[in-house]
Amino acid sequence: MKENYKIPLFIRFIEIAAFSLTILVWGSVSLAAEIIATHNLQIELVPTEMRLIGRDDITIKTEGTGVLTFRVSENLTQIKIIVDQDQRDFEFNNGRLLLNLKPHEQTADLHIRIYYSGIFDDPVPVRPVNTDNPGYGVTGTISPKGTFLLAGAGWYPELVGSQATYRVTVRAPAGFIAVTAGRSRGHITQNDQTVSTWEVNYPVRGLALSAARYVVEEKSVGKVKAATYLLPQNKHLAASYLEATAGYIALYSDLFGSYPFQKFAVVENFFPTGFGFPSYTLIGGTVLRLPFIVHTSLGHEIAHCWWGNGVYVDYAEGNWSEGLTSYVADYLFKEMKSEKAALDARRQWLKDFSTLVRPDNDLALNQFQSRYNPATKTIGYDKGAMIFHMIRRLVGEEAFWGSLRDLFRDRLFQRTSWSDLQRAFEIRGKQSLQYFFDQWVYRTGAPRFSVDVVSTERSGNSWQITGKITQDRPFYNFSLTLALETGQQTITEKINVNDQMTIFELTCADPPLKLTADPAVDIFRRLSPSEIPPAVNALKSSSSVVTVLSDQLDPALEKAARTLVLSLGLNHNEFITEDELNRQMLVENDILMIGGLRYPDLLKHLPVGVDIRPNSFSLDKSVYDKPSDAFFGVFNHPFAENRIISLFMPLSSEYADIVAAKITHYGKYSYLAFQSGKNQAKGFWPVEKSPLVYEWKQ
Ligand SMILES: [Zn+2]
Repeated sequence: MKENYKIPLFIRFIEIAAFSLTILVWGSVSLAAEIIATHNLQIELVPTEMRLIGRDDITIKTEGTGVLTFRVSENLTQIKIIVDQDQRDFEFNNGRLLLNLKPHEQTADLHIRIYYSGIFDDPVPVRPVNTDNPGYGVTGTISPKGTFLLAGAGWYPELVGSQATYRVTVRAPAGFIAVTAGRSRGHITQNDQTVSTWEVNYPVRGLALSAARYVVEEKSVGKVKAATYLLPQNKHLAASYLEATAGYIALYSDLFGSYPFQKFAVVENFFPTGFGFPSYTLIGGTVLRLPFIVHTSLGHEIAHCWWGNGVYVDYAEGNWSEGLTSYVADYLFKEMKSEKAALDARRQWLKDFSTLVRPDNDLALNQFQSRYNPATKTIGYDKGAMIFHMIRRLVGEEAFWGSLRDLFRDRLFQRTSWSDLQRAFEIRGKQSLQYFFDQWVYRTGAPRFSVDVVSTERSGNSWQITGKITQDRPFYNFSLTLALETGQQTITEKINVNDQMTIFELTCADPPLKLTADPAVDIFRRLSPSEIPPAVNALKSSSSVVTVLSDQLDPALEKAARTLVLSLGLNHNEFITEDELNRQMLVENDILMIGGLRYPDLLKHLPVGVDIRPNSFSLDKSVYDKPSDAFFGVFNHPFAENRIISLFMPLSSEYADIVAAKITHYGKYSYLAFQSGKNQAKGFWPVEKSPLVYEWKQ
């Protein structure tokens, strides 16, 4: 079973990780000098009480600091602070623990011991419905099923403004193995307790902790350990994850430089999330079992160990790490597969950007922090990736990969900005990239341009063609490939485009047939509406939808209609009956029809090969007429330009609710057919016309 709809489900989980990372990094951005601290953490987990009992021995170089501030959970109790044998008073409010230092302590190597206890009982989601809008906000939970503690949960005293290293010892009931960042110092079970020890000797931005009844497997990759921490029911997945992890570590070590951590672990979470941390990833079991995760998301998470978790992001100047990671993982895997797969990926980025991003929700890349909806995803990940693609074409293969190696060597564990990246590419590329970064990174939007032929003249056996590229404002400067097809050959030529109009001339030795600008989709641009067949994403990003319930609708389908609206994240939606639909409503909104309607006029823009009847539908000669069949399609609006009409038509209520929850995961598709709740067909309506293609009339 290979159901692609689950990919976005997983990727969306990862975005929460990026989000929480953002918060962590922001917390310490404003502090200039960092205090050096070493923690020796002793943690005891009491899952039956959802409790953690902690002791932290901290050694601090105070460097003239008068007050130490620790970030902890506001629910901590039984806090006791000891400095050099003396129990000390402290302030504790809003999750901040403040300790005043005596004058002689302010320039010393100080030893502080903090005792504390805390309940961590955030409710754990089982199956989220709307997967594009994260925010179920679990940061810490301790239970007999497992323990999940993000850095933001405040499960240990994090010294604000410090650069810290850690030794973490976790005691838990026998069989509960704990995992965190850094190097494992093993786990032993004695006296009904399992003790896991970890050492983190590089500066981390906050530490997360997981524990459960894991089965641990390891494999050496040079000096690095690949490891899996899986629950018993999934332990059979270990071999494929270990092998894939080893492969990715080898691939990226070759490309960028040695892996910066001692291990990479795939850790199973006991509820459905996915997080990327320095040196490990935490993924829910249902996602781990999907066969394609090893080929997609795992590589993305491992690439983050170089970009984001290795070379840190300076969030003040925007998050470049998702664009770069998407490019060197998700995209590179497509490129390794085939040229066509890579081209399709680039075209999809352009389609998504053109559909989902409008002036009112656009951001320049230097303002992107993390994804929290489809528009921010397509800006930060897709446009970001396309920027790296264009840099690679501009400076060439050697300079591109060489710059990334330089950057990794020089900026490991340092906050790094778009300007640092620009400098690295400029040095290796031996050219100024200021105009490039100005237009692509520091500006919102994308160019719009078209190709036209002004004249075609024959003299003897040669054809002279004069053409022009016309741009809308604001104008971009880029190198554009033109492909001229004749009956005999295809001639390609590069021109430099800037300003409103760029004139070019081409010559060929036989009659020209077709001229295509940017045939390989190498330039980021806003597609014209004629290049984007309507798709699910257009509905998801709609500013106003009217959902029309058919007059003959089986009442059981109303529930499915509500599930559909919820899972698509339609915030501006109104439910009406077919009787309530009037002309004004129709033309002023995007329409979502549930069930077959009385007015066939509404679907007058049905593409060739599609037929919709009351109790059946057909797509490309395949007829669907069983009660367990369901159709979903998005079409051009019958009466309003730039609006869409969509139809959700389950032939009975049998699997309707299941299908309704799945549709949102097929954002890029124009049509979907389901049988017994499973996707059977999906596709796009054909593109009618492109402003980058000129064809000579025969
Ligand atoms: Zn990512």
